[in-house]
Amino acid sequence: MYRVGLGHDTHRLIDDRPLILGGVTIPHPKGPDAHSDGDVLLHALTDALLGAAGLGDIGEWFPDNDPAFAGADSTTFLTQALEEIASRGWQVVNVDCTVFAQQPRLSPHKNEIAARVAELLGIDRSAANVKAKTGERVGPIGREEAIAADAIVLLSRAESPVNSNTSG
Ligand code: MG
Repeated sequence: MYRVGLGHDTHRLIDDRPLILGGVTIPHPKGPDAHSDGDVLLHALTDALLGAAGLGDIGEWFPDNDPAFAGADSTTFLTQALEEIASRGWQVVNVDCTVFAQQPRLSPHKNEIAARVAELLGIDRSAANVKAKTGERVGPIGREEAIAADAIVLLSRAESPVNSNTSG
């Protein structure tokens, strides 16, 4: 059995906030305006995991008006979503992500980010792919007003023995 899930996130970029992507801090004078640490990549991935398992979205699990999540480390969102899907028998096959930012250029950081994502998800490094795109200097991404990320995830689980027996 397989399930696929999709995630997206966008945050405004403001001065003097740390820029964290996939749990990795990237040196940059601007960062996301957010209730939590604003890690767009982990927010998109968390939504993709929840979506694949039919568990709603990140806003239902971690409301952005809940004081408990003020300044939250977004790795905790991803880890909790992973625990929820694992408790239902799902495991991650692979993830693919795209981060959209005009600045900073992310190519020097893609490998470290993908390695961290693989570590957080407990999957092989080759099963976590991170791509980077600019905004081609148009729109909120291109004007460096925002940063965004897309993520897609594939989950699998073995058919339960009960089901296999009844079909035979
Ligand atoms: Mg977000």
